[in-house]
Amino acid sequence: MNELVERDRAVIWHPFTQMQTAPLPIPIARAEGSVLYGTDGREYLDMISSWWVNLHGHAHPHIAERVSEQLRTLEHVIFADFTHQPAVELAERLLTILPQNQAKVFYSDNGSTAVEVALKMAFQYWHNLGRPRRKVVALENAYHGDTFGAMAVGGRSAFTAPFAPFLFDVDYLPVPTTGTESNVLERAEALLTDEVAAFIVEPLVQGAGGMNMYEPETLDKLFQLARRNGSLIIADEVMTGFGRTGQLFASDYLVEKPDLMCLSKGITGGTMALGVTACTQTIYDAFLSTDKHKTLFHGHSFTANPLACAAALASMDLLLRPETQASIQRIAKNHADFAKHLASKDTVENIRQRGTLLAFDLVAGEQTSYFNTIRDIAYNFLLDRGVLMRPLGNVLYLMPPYCTTNEQLAYTYSQVNELLMII
Ligand SMILES: *Cc1c(COP(=O)(O)O)cnc(C)c1O
Repeated sequence: MNELVERDRAVIWHPFTQMQTAPLPIPIARAEGSVLYGTDGREYLDMISSWWVNLHGHAHPHIAERVSEQLRTLEHVIFADFTHQPAVELAERLLTILPQNQAKVFYSDNGSTAVEVALKMAFQYWHNLGRPRRKVVALENAYHGDTFGAMAVGGRSAFTAPFAPFLFDVDYLPVPTTGTESNVLERAEALLTDEVAAFIVEPLVQGAGGMNMYEPETLDKLFQLARRNGSLIIADEVMTGFGRTGQLFASDYLVEKPDLMCLSKGITGGTMALGVTACTQTIYDAFLSTDKHKTLFHGHSFTANPLACAAALASMDLLLRPETQASIQRIAKNHADFAKHLASKDTVENIRQRGTLLAFDLVAGEQTSYFNTIRDIAYNFLLDRGVLMRPLGNVLYLMPPYCTTNEQLAYTYSQVNELLMII
């Protein structure tokens, strides 16, 4: 066994990992662009952007420079009663690219906390108005993170089963996939009553739930139904934000804009942990008072960490460059061509794409859960050929960093093609 792996085994408990049966972790020494380099010299094309966080490639010099400069200037300061340049500049710049109704930025340090903050803002909004509302409506299969509030509004599954008694009740709507829209809208009409504090969704693409995609027109209609009764709309753009879907935010495809937005993952280009919950002026105003009880009592030690904010600013510089925007469209075009090719394969179904995200189901016989083996076959086959993709059950998806070249994409597509011949 590799020495590093041996030491890992002795002391580390990995996330989402059954430590008794899991294969040994792969030690990575360094990374550059879309390529991870193992300690044994093997190369892996990172087609999942390292857990959906990387935008511009690994160890990007521009981000590295901004962060190291910040490290020598101000690495951290308490964010209650104090402020600093990177936090202010980042909030200002975020508000210029977020939907126009967004007015204030609240910092935390990951995607789950960004969701927790949005839920607490929504519940306390109604509390502060003196008209408490208790219900939340979410989509089936949703994933909003692993802390308790975030788990509660996610779809219930084997992942949440041990905690089921401790999660607050949520009403679920099915995902309005093609052909089911009118049915879902009918259910929504009944569920989205004036008791609903908030309606939370991953707009247009559900990530961890299986890369389920649905149309902006339908989401606009759902948002209108929620609005009818004043329910707050939370867009969890932790995965969809910062160009993934082909627009800067999935909400940019919509006419109805969310009241609250959750951001993380790509915000720092995948360099550091940072969470943002953005909200409208109306929500912010509901917490203003001479009565201290109306305060949002929430914060984290690393709230608005200057290093993370500096990384986010550097990532935004890169994201807004015309070359990067062109790359996003280039990847989308490559995906669309490959999708056409996939359509002729009978081992593939349910091909779907939004921007740089391409997903399809491997036709796997009767078993299709996260725990089944077609996942392991596909994962290992591709990994052996130097392509890192991590299927969600039988769902295979591509989420490359925006710097991924046409050659790297072509290589990946060819390996997927070979996989399709053996399953
Ligand atoms: C990953 C994810 C989260 C949770 O973010 P963490 O930083 O892993 O806590 C929340 N919502 C969505 C849509 C995600 O994809």
